[in-house]
Amino acid sequence: MLLKHTPEMISERSALMINPAKTCQPIGAMYAALGIKGCLPHSHGSQGCCAYHRSTLTRHYKEPVAAATSSFTEGASVFGGQANLIQAIDNIFTVYEPDVIAVHTTCLSETIGDDLPQIFDKAIKENKVPAGKTLIGASTPSYAGSHVTGFANMVKAMAALAQPGGEKTGKVNIIPGWVEPADMEEVKRIASLVGVPITLFPDTSGVLNGPLTGVYSMFPEAGASIDDIKASGGAIGTLALGEWCSAEAARLLDSRCKVPCSVLDLPIGLQATDRFVDTLRIIAGQSVPDEIVRERGRLVDLISDMHQYFYGRKVALVGDPDQLIAMTEFLVTIDMVPVHVVTGTPGKKFEKRITDLVAGTDHTVNVRAAGDMFLLHQWIKNEPVDLIIGNSYCKYIARDEDLPLVRWGFPILDRQGHQHFPTVGYIGGLRLLEKILDALLDRQDRDASEASFELVL
Ligand code: SF4
Repeated sequence: MLLKHTPEMISERSALMINPAKTCQPIGAMYAALGIKGCLPHSHGSQGCCAYHRSTLTRHYKEPVAAATSSFTEGASVFGGQANLIQAIDNIFTVYEPDVIAVHTTCLSETIGDDLPQIFDKAIKENKVPAGKTLIGASTPSYAGSHVTGFANMVKAMAALAQPGGEKTGKVNIIPGWVEPADMEEVKRIASLVGVPITLFPDTSGVLNGPLTGVYSMFPEAGASIDDIKASGGAIGTLALGEWCSAEAARLLDSRCKVPCSVLDLPIGLQATDRFVDTLRIIAGQSVPDEIVRERGRLVDLISDMHQYFYGRKVALVGDPDQLIAMTEFLVTIDMVPVHVVTGTPGKKFEKRITDLVAGTDHTVNVRAAGDMFLLHQWIKNEPVDLIIGNSYCKYIARDEDLPLVRWGFPILDRQGHQHFPTVGYIGGLRLLEKILDALLDRQDRDASEASFELVL
C-alpha cells in the first residue's frame, strides 16, 4: 500500500512537507472568479499552471472549467509577461466576449515581479478593454498561503470594485466563503426565507452544478453580476462567512465604503447555523419563519435519535480552516471527539480556535496549521480514530489504517454529489450526519459477529 511506510515515531520537521494538505493559490482564485457572471478566469503564467488549476476544478466539480492563460515561454519568463497579458486581454475580449476577465498571478509571474495594476492601466490606455468590460486582478503567489488564500485574495479583488458613496441598495452583502455551489444556493434560500434581500458574491451556484441541457454555454446565466458587486458599496451591511476566505473582503468594504461587517463562522452544524439565522433574523427585524424552525427541529431530532452512535467516537479531520472550525464545533455538539485536526493553510489562530472549541470537553486535540497528511497519518497511528473526515487524499490513510472515511471538503476527485447537496444550514447538517452515520454503521455491520449482526439499529 502507498503509505505503509509512514512511521509511528514523529520527528519535528521544519523544512519538509510530505503530502501537503493544501493546493496552490490560483486554484482558489479561479474558483472564486467562476462565481462572477460572465467572467473568464485568466492565469498569468505558464500553460502548465493553468492546465493544473482547470483540471483540479474540473475533477472536483465534474463540469468543464474554462480559463485562459498568458502562455509564458522562455522570453516572458525572463523579461516579464506584460506583452503576453496585454495580447491575451485583447484576444479574450475579441474572441470570447466575457463581461469580466479575472486575472490571477502564479509563482512565475510573481517571481518576475509583474505588476498587474500597471499592466491593466497599459491595456486600458491601449484600448484593449472595450467599454463596459471589466478587468480584475489578484496577486496569488503559490509559495505562500494555500488555495484558501488565493480564494480570499480574489474575493478581496471583487470587493475592491464596490463603489463608495453610491446609492443605498437596502441589501446585505453575504460573502459565502469557499463552499460548494449547492451551499451557496442554500445560503440564498435561507436568507430569502428570513426575508433579507442579499447580494451574494462570489456565487458559483448554477455555474458549477448546472443542468445538462445539451447546449454548451461558456458563460452560464448564473453568478454574481458585476453591477451587483459594484453596488455592494451601498449595502446596509456585510456578513462574511469564514474568517479565512471572506473576512478580508468584508473589512475592505467596511473601510472603503463604510459598509459595516460581521464575520461569522460558516453555517455548518447546529450552532453555527443558529448564529447565522439569528443574525439574519435581527437584520430582518422579524422572527424566524416556521419552515426554518421545522428544519432545525429535524436536525435536533436526528441528533437525539442517533446520539448513541455518535457518542465518544473519535474523529480525525483534514481540510480548510473555515470548514474545520465549523465541523469541529458540530462534532463537539453531537458528542463526537475530534482528536486530530490538520489544515495545510498557515495561521496560528486556527490552532487556538480549534483548541478552544474542544476545551470544554474531557478531551485534548492535536491540531496543526500548515500541517500535512503525513503528520495526520502519524497522529492516527499513535492515537487511532473511528472515522476520518476529509478530502479524497484521505483515502490512502483510510485504506492503510482500515478506517471509514467521509469525503468532505476540497478536493473530492473520486465521488459525486458534493456539488449538488449542501452541507451548510440545518438541511446540510442532516446530510452530514447521514454521511457520518452511514460510515459508522456500515463499519459496525462489517465488523459484527454473526450473533450481533442486527437488522434494526
Ligand atoms: S507553479 Fe505555482 S502557480 Fe503554477 S501550478 Fe505550481 S504551485 Fe501553482
